[in-house]
Amino acid sequence: MHMVATETRVIGNFINGEFIPSTATRTLPVISPIDGTLLAEVPCSTAADLDNAVQAAAAVFPRWSRTPIKERVQVFFRYKTLLERDLQELAALVSRENGKTLGEGVAEVEKCIELTEFATSLPQLVTGEVLEVSRGVECRTEHVPLGVVASIVPFNFPAMVPNWTIPNALALGNCMIIKPSEKVPLSLTRIAALLKEAGLPDGVFNIVNGDSEIVQAICDHPGIEAVSFVGSTRVARLVYQRATQQLKRCLALGGAKNHLLVLPDAKPEMTAQNVAASMSGCAGQRCMAASAMVGVGPVDHIIEKICEEARKIIPGKNLGAVISPAAKERIERYITEAEAQGANVLVDGRNARVPGKENGTYVGPTVIDHVKPDMAIATEEIFGPVISIMRVDTIDAALAIENASPYGNAASVFTQNGAMARYVMEHASAGMIGVNVGVPVPREPFSFGGWNESKFGVGDITGKSSIEFWTQLKKTTVKWNPEAGINWMS
Ligand code: NAD
Repeated sequence: MHMVATETRVIGNFINGEFIPSTATRTLPVISPIDGTLLAEVPCSTAADLDNAVQAAAAVFPRWSRTPIKERVQVFFRYKTLLERDLQELAALVSRENGKTLGEGVAEVEKCIELTEFATSLPQLVTGEVLEVSRGVECRTEHVPLGVVASIVPFNFPAMVPNWTIPNALALGNCMIIKPSEKVPLSLTRIAALLKEAGLPDGVFNIVNGDSEIVQAICDHPGIEAVSFVGSTRVARLVYQRATQQLKRCLALGGAKNHLLVLPDAKPEMTAQNVAASMSGCAGQRCMAASAMVGVGPVDHIIEKICEEARKIIPGKNLGAVISPAAKERIERYITEAEAQGANVLVDGRNARVPGKENGTYVGPTVIDHVKPDMAIATEEIFGPVISIMRVDTIDAALAIENASPYGNAASVFTQNGAMARYVMEHASAGMIGVNVGVPVPREPFSFGGWNESKFGVGDITGKSSIEFWTQLKKTTVKWNPEAGINWMS
């Protein structure tokens, strides 16, 4: 797609502390899903743009990596207060370019603040170790940054997912190239300005805009040591394969199909509220969104309440838009297909219209009952405000459905029975488990990351686990005193 609007600004890349025009010959439109407004043009940057950014990052790396970590995190103390100062403005930008509600935009920036708080605590967590291993001989270990690293991010959290990687990777001494989603590149331009205002030295953080071409160039660039990726499983797999082929460290988070197992003894109100919020928050465009519910035994009374809750969710009011017309079409197609195959649409979000926002891309909350485990809507990622309900008689049958999914981000159980909850905690095949929690995102210092095809690579992307990804261990053996004996080991 190529649109040229003379008044629309083509956003720059952020390289060496400045916004500079890309050498791109192609641009893509950035369109607000709320009302279809063209917000900007994003350049499809070239390998030359990337190389510029890598050179800027590499040039400042020696200085930044040798700055003591207690000094480096001072930037992030200031960045946190700037996020607080500009919270409303940034939240509005997130909402405008992504389509989520303003409240969800605020929550997203609040999460950025929590992520930054964690980064400021890194000096307490990365201390090395030292031990006298023979008389007069010491071994020590220290976490050392990698160099220039890259972060490739998706559209659904224009501020939060970038902040999964930026504060930790930078506080640990790396320099970064980030590749925003071409659908939502604007929030990151604001974030770049805040990092600069916080005192981050030029070149430590760089933005190179673009689409798949620049992602491939990132995987191939010899000056980039590590690549983190968050997006769909299809692309996560491509990026993981390409980056590791180039012998880079890579952690690639993919898509999801999250199951909620609901037992008849679950608290109806609490369960219904959690299910409805999980499937519809951010218009269902969360990798932690509930997408499939498995009712174990007689749960009609809970399903009734879920429908009641769903009907309170109004597009354009407390439900945002989905990212694009193509996404709306795809989601509605899944619903229509499931209905044609015999599923029962209890709450129907198709053809949602928001008065005054006729060009917005809204899908209303949708609850579909009697979905069969082999239907596409039950197995594929929908990424819309839709919950598909399957019915089984036993917890093992419910777990078999959950276990059969190739994904493995999240799974939750709703029950008042501790033994049943414990059974699901043990047997669900997912990296993040909830007990009576619809969106079981672990908060800092715990780390975020799925299993199976929801993540390729070792470790997690946030929290303590991220330290291993963004650093390497230097092991030093020291002997100063002449009386230290020589033995075969040191
Ligand atoms: P996407 O995979 O389409 O895009 C992600 C990034 O990859 C973007 O920057 C995009 O420009 C780039 N890209 C797209 N196609 C490419 C290709 N063929 N080759 C190289 N790069 C390419 O994902 P999206 O639509 O932006 O985001 C939604 C997806 O992200 C969902 O599947 C969702 O579950 C997933 N997600 C996962 C997590 C997680 O933590 N596991 C978090 C957020 C989103």
